[in-house]
Amino acid sequence: MADDLNKQENNQKIESTSQNTSTKIYSDDNIDVTTYKCPNCGGETFFDPKVQKIHCLYCGSMFEIENKTIATERNLTELLESGNVWTEAEVYQCKTCGAKEILNSQEVSIKCPFCGTNNIIKTEELPGLKPQGITPFKLDKNQTSQIATKWAKKKLYAPRDFKKSVKPENIQGVYNPVFTFDAQTDSTYNGTLGKNYTTYRYINGKRVACTETRYFNISGLQTVTFDDILIQASSTIPTKIVNKIEPFPTKKAVEYKTEYLRGYFANTYNKSGQECWNECKTIMNSTIERQILKRYDYDIKLSLNIQTSFMNEQYKYILVPIYVGHYNYKNKLYNFYVNGYNGKIGGKTPVSKIKISITILIGLLILVGFLLLMTYA
Ligand SMILES: [Zn+2]
Ligand SMILES: [Zn+2]
Repeated sequence: MADDLNKQENNQKIESTSQNTSTKIYSDDNIDVTTYKCPNCGGETFFDPKVQKIHCLYCGSMFEIENKTIATERNLTELLESGNVWTEAEVYQCKTCGAKEILNSQEVSIKCPFCGTNNIIKTEELPGLKPQGITPFKLDKNQTSQIATKWAKKKLYAPRDFKKSVKPENIQGVYNPVFTFDAQTDSTYNGTLGKNYTTYRYINGKRVACTETRYFNISGLQTVTFDDILIQASSTIPTKIVNKIEPFPTKKAVEYKTEYLRGYFANTYNKSGQECWNECKTIMNSTIERQILKRYDYDIKLSLNIQTSFMNEQYKYILVPIYVGHYNYKNKLYNFYVNGYNGKIGGKTPVSKIKISITILIGLLILVGFLLLMTYA
């Protein structure tokens, strides 16, 4: 109880109408992106995943982020025709690895999360659409470090000395851009499927089982409603890895506020809205096909034509939380990626050539043994 009271004392809610300059307003409209200073002490502040508030590193003050409404969907045409740009953000680029990030100028001294060098410069490029939603980080760097250590120690093919002294380095929170799409679909289809069956024939007086196929025509209507189909809008973090650490709870996204970016990087999207929507349609089309085929008992798909109309297409542009860090082993960096919401991890660790050779050798021995058995049995 006493603890709660203390917390309340610290949690000075930032009011939007305050004359006192020492309690500066932290709202989206009048935020000064170049200085994220604590109103109480002038120290640097950051978004603290543990308390889901803005936290001052120096005096410990915490500030709530106003307005936590769930991000709403927007009409797809807005995305495809959009020329909006996100005016309060700036694009920086790492000169070493080429990664493009959005961050505020005071953070430029930070090491690039992808290659670990200190070579980040501002570019002329505009940051593109402003996100409408964000899934804030839930795990902090300490928890991420523990997850990364545990994971590396469990890696079967990692060298023993690496596992013994594993130490995750340069852990940075990076918000990765995703589009989520909704749509209702109506499809008409026709096609030909085949079902196998067994008949018996007498060949030279012997009863022999034969497989034959009976073909039949299909046609009909199929309606599928899609909700929050997630498409990665940046390829800076390899899609394979992002897929591995999914899901990101886009349903839990809150309205985007610049405050959530404080202390973090944000990747710019490098795929167009149209490109992402096309990718999404491919996923939707294959789902529709699967749903249609599920209605039938068949073994062979000879042909299937589907005509689909898409309706009520909507999108959300959301930032999702990923921690990027690396292990340094024999002066080589191995990146790992942790879902900042649920702690799922993917990435690379060094591999021991000896361990792999032994595995291959054992595999070969088993194979040789098996072949010998087959030959002499
Ligand atoms: Zn402070
Ligand atoms: Zn870099």
